[in-house]
Formats: sequence, structure tokens, C-alpha cells
Amino acid sequence: MQMLREERSMEFIEEEHYEELIELQVHPAEWAVRVDRIPHIWCSGCGIGIAMIAFIEALRELEIDLRKLCVVSGIGCTGRVAGYMNCNSFHTTHGRPIPFAIGLHLANPELKVVVFSGDGDIIAIGGNHFIHAARRNVDITVICVNNFNYGMTGGQSGPTTHMDGKTTTTPYGNVEYEFNLPLLAASCGATYVARWTTVDPRRLRVSIVEALQKKGFSFVEAISPCPTNYGRRNKIGDGIDEMRYYKEKTIIKNFAPLEEAEIHLGGPIVCGKFVDKEKPTFLDLVTQVIDKKARGE
Ligand code: SF4
Repeated sequence: MQMLREERSMEFIEEEHYEELIELQVHPAEWAVRVDRIPHIWCSGCGIGIAMIAFIEALRELEIDLRKLCVVSGIGCTGRVAGYMNCNSFHTTHGRPIPFAIGLHLANPELKVVVFSGDGDIIAIGGNHFIHAARRNVDITVICVNNFNYGMTGGQSGPTTHMDGKTTTTPYGNVEYEFNLPLLAASCGATYVARWTTVDPRRLRVSIVEALQKKGFSFVEAISPCPTNYGRRNKIGDGIDEMRYYKEKTIIKNFAPLEEAEIHLGGPIVCGKFVDKEKPTFLDLVTQVIDKKARGE
């Protein structure tokens, strides 16, 4: 067991060893997790852990060397992911994981840089960084766990809170139109855009695999239950009820026109891959300009 635990540090624990691992009570994701940081802080029924495991499984599938991976998070419940990953990681200030990630990528393009954070962090406080990183087509992957509220600070509303959604700051129902994240990412220029719920971890993993391989700004939204705040206030129930709710509401429409990527409280949650295209990245274009200049053009 000790040997297997040591193996996890930088090696993959292959699927063929899973039964052995279960017998030894070693979690198959241990190779990628700082087990000394466990137990985690997430509430029971929360979907962030499922999204993190989908990410770890994607890393395993692509055999990504953890020494060449950098996970960047901001503040919030999802912001804890960077601290739990057994790789180079940054737990940055609120809303700022994307500028940190851009700096890491430009300083060392050999690194695989992934932002893993929540909607309150990436889309609300860090919304401007998000749109401009997508516009510039910076070669990073952004995974956003969207639970429609600021979970960690007590369940306040944010720009992803559904119209009519009840939160601590909208007890009579939200009256603001919400952001539709795939639509936002695509309209800003992202080269890969997908949305899944954490009820569908396999499809989520497949999209993360594709996003990690994509050159350019790739974006995956993972709709997740927050039973402690959003589920309870909107009378959806506990974590399992919220998962059932998302399962019932999910409609899969791969490559649907983006205006069909609907998401409403009580209405459909349209999931799928919406964008998958190629175009030069920010670094490609900067390099071209430098080369031109060097040639005296
Ligand atoms: Fe998850 Fe919500 Fe609990 Fe945060 S407050 S850990 S998002 S269930």
C-alpha cells in the first residue's frame, strides 16, 4: 500500500489496478490529489468534487505530466480545487485566476495551464478577464463550475443567477437577466465551448479532454448543484434532488446554434459541445509580429 501511495506522486495509477486499489482503500484519483489536504471543505451533495474527478480522469486519459500542469483557481468553493491538486497550482485573489494563468502561459508556453474556478469568481468578479482572454484567444483551458450563486459567502446572487432565482440577496426572486456562459464565451472568440452538468461526468470528461487538446481559449461549463444555498432556497431539495432535477431538465444538442443553448430555472438546460474551431492563438500572432520585425519587414 505504501508503495502504491508513493507511486501516486507523479505516476499514473492505471485502471487495471483499480480493484487492488479498492481493496487497499486507495482512491484511484490519489495520484493527482494532495491527500494531506483531505477532507475537503465541500458540503455533501455538492457537485464540485465530481467536476474535479472528471478533470483528473481527463488528465489520466491524456497522460498529462503533473509537473507540466498548472491549475489556477480564484476564491470560492471551486477555488479550493487548485489547492487539492497534486501539481503546480495557484490559489489566487478573487476574480483573478485568468490573468495569473495568462502570465504563466506566456512565461512558459510548455506548461499546460488550466483555470478551474466558479461562476462568481470567473464570470462575475473576473468577468472582464474572461471576455478579453477569450477575445485574444489565449491558449489556456477554463473550466467553470456554475452553481448560479456565490456559495462560499452565503449564497448571494450573481450574473449567472437565473431570472426569478431565490438567493440571500434576492429573497423575492432575481429580476436580472442572467449570462449564458457558452454564448458569452463563443461570442468573445473562444475556440472550444461546451456545457455539461455534473450528472453527466463522462461527457464532461470527454469535453475536458478535447478542451485540453485544443489550441486556443477553450471553455467548459460544468453545471453543479449547490444544495446548501441555491437548491435549498429554490426548494429543489438536497444534492441528490438537485442532481435529479438537472438530469430531468437536460437536453443534449451538440453543435446547436448558440441561441438554442438555453438555461432557465425550471426550464431546459441545453448541454453539448457548441464550438470547436481552429484559429491562431495570441502567442502565435505575437510570435509572427516579432519574426516579421526581425526580418525587417
Ligand atoms: Fe458546494 Fe454550495 Fe456547499 Fe459551496 S456552499 S461547497 S458550492 S454546496
